[in-house]
Amino acid sequence: MENQFAHLIQEIGEDIGREGLVDTPKRAAAAFRFLNSGYHMTLENVLNQAIFEADTEDMVIVKDIELYSLCEHHLLPFIGKCHVAYLPRGRVLGLSKVARIVEMYARRLQIQERLTKQIADAIQTAVDPVGVAVVIEAKHLCMMMRGVEKQNSVMMTSCMLGLFRKQISTRSEFLELINRR
Ligand SMILES: [Zn+2]
Repeated sequence: MENQFAHLIQEIGEDIGREGLVDTPKRAAAAFRFLNSGYHMTLENVLNQAIFEADTEDMVIVKDIELYSLCEHHLLPFIGKCHVAYLPRGRVLGLSKVARIVEMYARRLQIQERLTKQIADAIQTAVDPVGVAVVIEAKHLCMMMRGVEKQNSVMMTSCMLGLFRKQISTRSEFLELINRR
């Protein structure tokens, strides 16, 4: 991968021998591997058995999870926030696990729509809740830095499963809670 980054740098007309660029292929390769490290994670090892019995049926919300991913069309970042909610059916996830699930899928080449659904499906698989809701709001650098250069547009995607899909009042409660600052 280092050689391939060196080649790319030469292709744009740079001098690969220039002092500031000497270690760049190595660093870029390490960064690219890290940003795509989600391919080597599975739901099972991310959860690491951090699922607990709980007799609550109240909505669990984790909001404002920082999100960094790479768009699969341009290999440019999209950056934003992810909000997740679920309605437990006897089991809850360990506190940090929702964020870890978001990371596992964000650190892959993605489109925002698929990322949103993968997170929702993973929560569904992990604790079989009565419902799951995921909302992602993100800015795409491929839109901001190139092409149409729309600096302030935010893309919103959502995936609602179970009761969040069926019941408007449940969905509204979630949307109201994530919009409250
Ligand atoms: Zn893109």
